[in-house]
Amino acid sequence: MALAAGALIKRSLSRLIGCRAELFAAASTARFHSAPETLWQNTVPPLDSAGSLINRFASLVVGAGPAGLAVATSLLDSACDPILWVDPHFQSGRLHSYLDVPSNTKTKLFIQFAEWPQHTASSAPEAVRHFQDQDPDKGCQLQLAQEMVTSMTHGLHRDHADKVCLQRGRVTSMVLEDGLWNINEGRAFAKRAYLATGSHPRDDSPYPDLQKLDLDDALIPSKLSGLVSSEDTVCVIGSSHSAVLVLMNLLEMRDGPKVVNLHRSPMKYAKYLTDGTIILDNTGLKGVAADWSREKIETQHFEQTGRLQRVNISETPQEAVQQAVSACNKIVSAVGFNRNPLPKIVVEGKQLSSNDIRHDPHSGVIIPDRLFGYGIAFPEKVVDPEYGHTENNIGLLKFMKYVRKTCLARARTEGSAAGFSVMHRTA
Ligand SMILES: Cc1cc2nc3c(=O)[nH]c(=O)nc-3n(C[C@H](O)[C@H](O)[C@H](O)COP(=O)(O)OP(=O)(O)OC[C@H]3O[C@@H](n4cnc5c(N)ncnc54)[C@H](O)[C@@H]3O)c2cc1C
Repeated sequence: MALAAGALIKRSLSRLIGCRAELFAAASTARFHSAPETLWQNTVPPLDSAGSLINRFASLVVGAGPAGLAVATSLLDSACDPILWVDPHFQSGRLHSYLDVPSNTKTKLFIQFAEWPQHTASSAPEAVRHFQDQDPDKGCQLQLAQEMVTSMTHGLHRDHADKVCLQRGRVTSMVLEDGLWNINEGRAFAKRAYLATGSHPRDDSPYPDLQKLDLDDALIPSKLSGLVSSEDTVCVIGSSHSAVLVLMNLLEMRDGPKVVNLHRSPMKYAKYLTDGTIILDNTGLKGVAADWSREKIETQHFEQTGRLQRVNISETPQEAVQQAVSACNKIVSAVGFNRNPLPKIVVEGKQLSSNDIRHDPHSGVIIPDRLFGYGIAFPEKVVDPEYGHTENNIGLLKFMKYVRKTCLARARTEGSAAGFSVMHRTA
């Protein structure tokens, strides 16, 4: 075992061209998962083929959730390497918190995500193996998507350690100096930086007297059952996919609590057209949540049994809303996500505040040719084909399509000027 590991290390080192993933080169799968979060200190910079230390990269990718993976694989397919890819855990980002949660995406869209990038093609069969017993036209547990993202990340590390350097830790500062990002005070430098840093649930409850339940806990039946009982009345705010999953978990619980659901609009359902268009693709209910809502909410099943009171706060007088809330002792807010804190970003001597960080939701550009944002923190905006409103385009395959559309286009136009060659995906 030790000999095999030694041979692996030697082979990895001899293959090195652009960078060495120091923490990962010898890591077993178990170690890959279990190393603690660091602030990226006391780590050894990568080596080049001559064994010299290198710390200059064409691209920095911050975050290894599904969006970071989409960016890293797309940059690799666009020959924008060497790439420094940083995350505290490399465990697929927030998906890791939602293992027991049913997806709103059909399984085949996850499979398309895995099969798209050229440079992870050899690990795609392993990554999609997790879906082998699933109906591709139905949803699945998010655990399978989490395993797929982790498999692809491992595959990228295993097969492309010469081009992508996985660094466990956090990017804490990025200073743009002389056209290069100085990362974490000189630990590395990169020409372009891609933020895929994710978001967390908003928890700004308007009712501070009620005990807050964490949305991430409320989404998982096994966690939720230890947090509420039939003695409780839980206020659930929202009517999103997450809110409906929380309602389902609370109301289907044996000896569960009573529930007051504050919402602004009727339940909305995604509509699938025969030409492949999806109406309300990002804001309508899908999958298990849609089926359950149609069966139990639209029929007022739980209102008839006295377990549920639904209150439309747009139409109900304030006193009546207050009265409904006064019956509650706990609250879960499912009203959206806020961007995670970003690293300190300094440009031309000025530190950017979070208000200064604006991205173009059609190209991902934050600072032209230097800084880009992707994923749930920097989503693409799309127009609903039927109702005409704008939605954030959230989901694994949507991230992959958006990143590739914009990264590949940029690499084609800017790549030659930057000295990068461009590889095109063969269909
Ligand atoms: C209930 C629920 C159900 C969902 N169902 C589906 C579904 O069915 N299908 C689907 O496609 N999507 C689904 N999603 C959406 C999907 O899981 C998320 O949108 C996705 O995880 C967001 O990906 P991301 O890569 O943008 O961010 P994240 O997954 O949050 O990843 C961000 C990563 O960046 C890291 N990071 C942050 N700051 C730094 C830093 N300074 N330095 C280094 N690393 C940093 C974080 O640690 C994290 O690992 C669902 C989401 C929810 C909440």
